[in-house]
Amino acid sequence: MHFLADKFSRRWFSFGLVAAPLAAACGVGAFAELAEADETPQFARWVVDKNDPPFGMTDTFHRNALAVPIAPFGLGEVELHDGPLKQSAEWNRNYMMRLSVDRLLHNFRVNAGLPSSAQPLGGWEAPGVELRGHFVGHYLSACGLMHASTGDQQIKGKGDQIVSGLAVCQKSLGSSGYLSAFPEELFERLDALKGVWAPFYTLHKIMAGLLDMHTQACNADVLLGVAKWVDAWTASKSPEHMQEILDNEFGAMNEVLYNLASVTGDDRWAVAGDRFTKTKFFNPLALRKDELRGLHANTHIPEVIGAARRYEISQDSRYCNVAEFFWETVVESRTYATGGSSNNEHWETRPCHLGVELEESSHHQECCCAYNMMKLSRHLYAWTAQTKYIDYYERNLFNHRLGTIQPETGLTSYFLSMTPGAWKTVATEDDTFWCCNGTALEEFSKLNDTIYFHDDHGVYVNLYVASVLHWKERGIRLKQSTVFPIEPRTSIVVDESTAEPWVLNLRIPSWTTLDAAISINGKLVEGIAAPGSYLSVKRVWKKGDRVEVQLPMQVRIETIPDNPTWKAFGYGPLILAGQFPATGLNDELLHTNQGPDVAKSPLNVPLIEGGNSALLTKIKAAGAPLFFSLETTRQTITLKPLYQSWERFAVYWKTA
Ligand SMILES: [Zn+2]
Repeated sequence: MHFLADKFSRRWFSFGLVAAPLAAACGVGAFAELAEADETPQFARWVVDKNDPPFGMTDTFHRNALAVPIAPFGLGEVELHDGPLKQSAEWNRNYMMRLSVDRLLHNFRVNAGLPSSAQPLGGWEAPGVELRGHFVGHYLSACGLMHASTGDQQIKGKGDQIVSGLAVCQKSLGSSGYLSAFPEELFERLDALKGVWAPFYTLHKIMAGLLDMHTQACNADVLLGVAKWVDAWTASKSPEHMQEILDNEFGAMNEVLYNLASVTGDDRWAVAGDRFTKTKFFNPLALRKDELRGLHANTHIPEVIGAARRYEISQDSRYCNVAEFFWETVVESRTYATGGSSNNEHWETRPCHLGVELEESSHHQECCCAYNMMKLSRHLYAWTAQTKYIDYYERNLFNHRLGTIQPETGLTSYFLSMTPGAWKTVATEDDTFWCCNGTALEEFSKLNDTIYFHDDHGVYVNLYVASVLHWKERGIRLKQSTVFPIEPRTSIVVDESTAEPWVLNLRIPSWTTLDAAISINGKLVEGIAAPGSYLSVKRVWKKGDRVEVQLPMQVRIETIPDNPTWKAFGYGPLILAGQFPATGLNDELLHTNQGPDVAKSPLNVPLIEGGNSALLTKIKAAGAPLFFSLETTRQTITLKPLYQSWERFAVYWKTA
């Protein structure tokens, strides 16, 4: 979430692992030159050919839906079985069940002049905080997604109660359709370009929540009322003034309006969505220019998701260009080994300067950024079926997302620090309600959404997760049994099939080795596909057919290309973290701050010595699965998956 910009220390940015292609393009010499330029941060943003920009002040919408080559299954068609994903989903559900509907509705009722005796929530949901209500929107989305995933009637009941409560508030506020936990005065300040946190950001969460509940058979009247208010408010502004208004963070207002246009078939909402096209952000991206330096990351990622949806409902290639190039430059030049991006919520350097970012802050990788980049990846994957999007998704899922939900409590983090000796800060039960806690509610309510996709010819198995797929339309049912990533293998049994042949596409991840192997009913498949692609098997699949997939993992080193003295260790899709006791951490350091202030409790993480080959010889398998030992100059340190690390840890190591 973007704090009021002028109060925020903007010193930042990020980068990463998969950075190899772009890093290679930049070259070592280029890094040196850019590093020098960093000393005088003249932000050259929005450098666009002003004579012929791809996006002008206004746009024209023509509906022309894209037929994607590959599509996700409905959430209700994939059931999670026991494993780390299902466990996290349960922790999240338990947390949601602990939150009271009346407390969530309190600010809305007060704002509507209705009685409420509930104890107000704290943190960013406290009365008087200008973002209040945002978490309620996330909560509604999570209710809708969880019900769609599991048929959970209890959680749907809570969502229904909130929608009903919001309907009463909306009616009490008048006939305009306005609905919020804060008064319209905040929008008046936005209109006057005066200081205000982010009213449209908050409204986006509420609208998205109402839409996610609507898809679960909840009344759409409240949502349509809000949409009418947004349409009227934005239509009353000149295009030039709207561009000024869009300097204030607005979440994915464009996306939710395009989604509404898609669900209702009414172009009115797409036209309203177009008013949220921030031209100075989209124009460079459409021309394949990375001018992200200095930008607040999670302000802009959702806007690109909106661009992706605009492309999907119109096939306007400019929006496709925006989404594809944005993903490419963020993932290839601004992403850490764990899959996350952003530092102090921003990108503060030109591309390929992740080493600079790593050393200048301990507040890396806002969790909302990971959530939204994964969401964007699913769109791009559906357009192309390229496994690079799933490789990236999986890396985020197993390191960043599973790594930022606290076991048992279900409470979640804000930043995931890459500073050696860092720790994970987590929210409190009812006194934080950061943006990232909201996106986490959604994330852990739909962990089944990317395991399988399909096209007309068959099924794509993307993630190795214990689960059942029931493709009702085609009469196909698969059961995947695995303890992945504890063991590098999975087993898929056909429980139901048809007489017609169909294709089973098995992802061979980029991280596996050439020893990957697949057998069908005990017979080894010849000519396995290369890592980073699919092995496709077309046959008449019969009930009882069994597919065994072996995906060997090996320890590897991932460096930061612009500063290869920083190294991280990967093992399959996992990033390994060095383990250190959680000493010196009081409640303030653990909970009050959104990220670990490592400078207030420094830890002397040892240097590691030697080139990559020598370093790999110093890593030995330890007793437990996924545990290793690392020999350093001072001591032997335990390495284990970052997602299992809840003491102090080191992902990146400085090498001597
Ligand atoms: Zn956040």
